[in-house]
Amino acid sequence: MNKYSLRISGRHHDQLRRHLFPGDGLEAVAFALCGRNRTDEEHIFTVHKVVPVAYADCDRTPISVTWPTEALAAILDDARRQGLAVMKFHSHPEFFERFSKLDDESDAETFASVSAWLDDGEPHGSAVMLPDGRVFGRAMTEGGEQAFSSVTVAGDKLSFWYQPGDCDPDFDGKLAAQLQLFGSGTTARLRRLRIGVVGCSGTGSFVVELLGRLAVGELVLIDDDRVEDRNLNRIVNAGERHVGEYKVDVLKRAVEAMGLGTKVDAIPRNLYDPVCVKKIAHCDVVFGCMDTAEGRHLLNRIAAFYVQPYFDLGVHLLADGEGGIDEASGVVHYLQPGGSSLFGRRAYTLEEVRAEGLRRTDPEAFQAERKAGYIEGADEKSPPVASLNCTIAGIAVNEFLSRLHPFRSCDPRDCDVVRFNFMETLTTKESAPEECPLLAPHVGRGDVEPLLGWSSLSMREVEP
Ligand SMILES: [Zn+2]
Repeated sequence: MNKYSLRISGRHHDQLRRHLFPGDGLEAVAFALCGRNRTDEEHIFTVHKVVPVAYADCDRTPISVTWPTEALAAILDDARRQGLAVMKFHSHPEFFERFSKLDDESDAETFASVSAWLDDGEPHGSAVMLPDGRVFGRAMTEGGEQAFSSVTVAGDKLSFWYQPGDCDPDFDGKLAAQLQLFGSGTTARLRRLRIGVVGCSGTGSFVVELLGRLAVGELVLIDDDRVEDRNLNRIVNAGERHVGEYKVDVLKRAVEAMGLGTKVDAIPRNLYDPVCVKKIAHCDVVFGCMDTAEGRHLLNRIAAFYVQPYFDLGVHLLADGEGGIDEASGVVHYLQPGGSSLFGRRAYTLEEVRAEGLRRTDPEAFQAERKAGYIEGADEKSPPVASLNCTIAGIAVNEFLSRLHPFRSCDPRDCDVVRFNFMETLTTKESAPEECPLLAPHVGRGDVEPLLGWSSLSMREVEP
């Protein structure tokens, strides 16, 4: 492990910004309790709870702020009890883009106390917010301090800030046109991103195709299904010779053959495998391209625990039983940590989640229930149509791009849900700002045992 980074939800970022910049030009301070996402190469802090320090308790000037030790003591018990990291945030109202000498002294003292009190041998952190909302920071470890390699905010907009001088990836001639279309800023950002796509069939294969053409840095593909004859009509890049292969392997080769330098991690497993949960948790952005309520329920939870922006796709076709269709529609949900959830938006019901879980874990019991008529329609599969899937995939990737590098005229808050009605050729958009009470307590909680607080995901069950 040699890198540290920080993820903040849009709501926590707003809360910090309001407190750190009250408009008087003086520095302010807040603490945050953070979860941890440990991977082989990175230790990611995820903001779980913001604890502002009252202005009246601080000594504030335009270039310094001090606070009473009680402010820190108040959160250390929570940090210890829940194994959370302590992150100190303060403001630099005069746009000073580095830690000052005063900061160095203050951090040395603060984090010596934190380490002494928690005695956990774990890294904690210190971050600075600038008046334009940008954040930079550093991990405070036993071995010294280390600058965050990235700070990200998953809100209405997606912000990714990297180390100065560390954001100039190599571009070759193939990407020149894209540099001009969306601007070099967008292409550079895409190049740095690791994006997870869960579900690599009808809509997922088109999403993968588009993200590959955008030359994102890395794709993590999750799907445990193999290509079959019956789905050749809807998986882009799959052909007759691929029948029997894992879909993720076929798409991996297709993306690599594009020659745009995208790395692909193909994982032929179900998302309910703890290895997949951790792989997806490491991604900067996730796309859900599943036709199951259970998978979407899980992915929404992962994205909350690990502070990730989540784009969810669905296509719905309803046959009229006489060879025609009653309904053909598609939907793209954008879900941000701390915001509303798919469940809250009624994208599925808990009964569907339960039924699908039963089908996955106990097929015999599922069949028995189904015969008894308890589960309505759980066995139905919408007939696939490639052009519809392609349209919805395009809407989803555009939604992602517009939040990464805002280019459209409407407010992103009005586009939490984008629906396309193929019967009427009608696009509609909706706002869905209500916080999900089920997921809100878990935002930024990071790694817990068992994973996501669900005993069915215990890492101990995993083979080494
Ligand atoms: Zn400072």
